[in-house]
Amino acid sequence: MARPAKWSDRVVAALAASQRHGLTLEELRCEIGHDGPAPEFSALYRAVEHLVGQGLVRRVALPGRPARHELAGHHHDHLLCTSCDRLVPVGCLAAGLDLAGLEGATGFALSAHDIVLPGLCPDCRVAT
Ligand SMILES: [Zn+2]
Ligand SMILES: [Zn+2]
Repeated sequence: MARPAKWSDRVVAALAASQRHGLTLEELRCEIGHDGPAPEFSALYRAVEHLVGQGLVRRVALPGRPARHELAGHHHDHLLCTSCDRLVPVGCLAAGLDLAGLEGATGFALSAHDIVLPGLCPDCRVAT
């Protein structure tokens, strides 16, 4: 039945092989199904939760869209094309922000950030 370790390996392999940046759970399931049996959705969900908990996979939450998943690594932020759903990695978008000043002004201790800027990619700009 559920074999989280096995599915975890397949999830990591699928994310590493993917041409697309960031996969939804549905896309992950499809990718894994290309070279073997696809996991039950619940088993896949548990495997991904496990990997996120271990810090091996990063979940990128997108407003109004299914979250995407990528292998954790060097921090980066993302641009999102709202027409074709393309997710583009870019350097840290918080680099120019005064986070220390923000912490001082609000009393918050900021732990992490995950910035996604929506817009239209070059292909979709041409198409409109
Ligand atoms: Zn990314
Ligand atoms: Zn950043």
